[in-house]
Amino acid sequence: MESARLDDGIRSTDGFAAHARVSAVRLGYIQDPFVSLFVPRARNLPTHAPLINIGTYVRTTSIDQLVESFLTAGSPEVKRQIVSVGAGSDTRFWRLSTGPLQNAVARYVELDFPEITTKKAMSIRKSTQLSSVLGSDVKVVKGGTGITSAVYHLLPVDLRQSVEMTLEPLVASETPILSPDLPTLFLAECVLVYMTPESSASIMSFFSRTFKNAFGIIYEMFSLGDSFGRVMRDNLRVRNVELPGAEAFPNLDSIRNRFLSAGYTAAEALPLSVIRREYVSGTETQRIAKLELVDEYEELELVLAHYALAWGSKLEDSLSPDLEAE
Ligand code: SAM
Repeated sequence: MESARLDDGIRSTDGFAAHARVSAVRLGYIQDPFVSLFVPRARNLPTHAPLINIGTYVRTTSIDQLVESFLTAGSPEVKRQIVSVGAGSDTRFWRLSTGPLQNAVARYVELDFPEITTKKAMSIRKSTQLSSVLGSDVKVVKGGTGITSAVYHLLPVDLRQSVEMTLEPLVASETPILSPDLPTLFLAECVLVYMTPESSASIMSFFSRTFKNAFGIIYEMFSLGDSFGRVMRDNLRVRNVELPGAEAFPNLDSIRNRFLSAGYTAAEALPLSVIRREYVSGTETQRIAKLELVDEYEELELVLAHYALAWGSKLEDSLSPDLEAE
């Protein structure tokens, strides 16, 4: 009973993330024509406070930049693979597939709990705008909990189970979805914090040992042991959300090290507060400053200082992605 309540809590975080995107899109922080197609009654949801919208802006655009850098570094002849673990209602596949890099991706795999993938599969089937992007060879699989097509694959898994059950079938089944020879990105956007460090380490190691060229992006809360971090944790606890993965990563070094000890050869980590100040262009900073009146910059800094964007690679030199400072 207790574990069912906690798993419901974890799954409910997808609603928070999707709502945050709806709010940021409505106010013009980010553009995403697909977000509302995954969120029932999106129009009726209230907008968030500026602090949350700015956080969503920095998170989304910096991850976009890293993904784009991964897709464009090295030869355009070599296609890439992306695996989004705990993808929730993320729309990145649709945004990429309708943008200038649509031909760069050979496979895009999304994994989440069956309760979440079932809802996502239903939204895709209901919307021509979403399903038309998948092409003609679309199949509903695993009793309606998954979808496969030429490029896009949505599959139900509990990522806390062993990688032999969850990730290895992607490369080792009779008809593998992923090729070990293609450069492969795993994206864990606000996901690993909900599982133990042991579970997340085995997911990260799977990618570095399986693919000749592996790149990983993690976005996560960290440094939750200080007084503000404890408030953030308590706020989640009242919504039944526990963070078993938070203790082990008190600072940026510990986040970098989780990549290095999982077989990656280079790693970087930055707090969102630094990314907002040093990596968002002047034009963009001016544009978003006009969207809403912000009188809570101190609190904004404090919140953003508790979220980290980290990336790690085991790649040939020619393939090295990076975030570009202003
Ligand atoms: N990555 C998406 C985004 O940024 O919009 C969703 C983030 S949401 C905060 C966390 C997601 O991770 C939820 O959809 C949740 O169901 C999923 N998740 C957490 N633990 C998981 C697990 N053990 N197995 C599968 N999915 C998991």
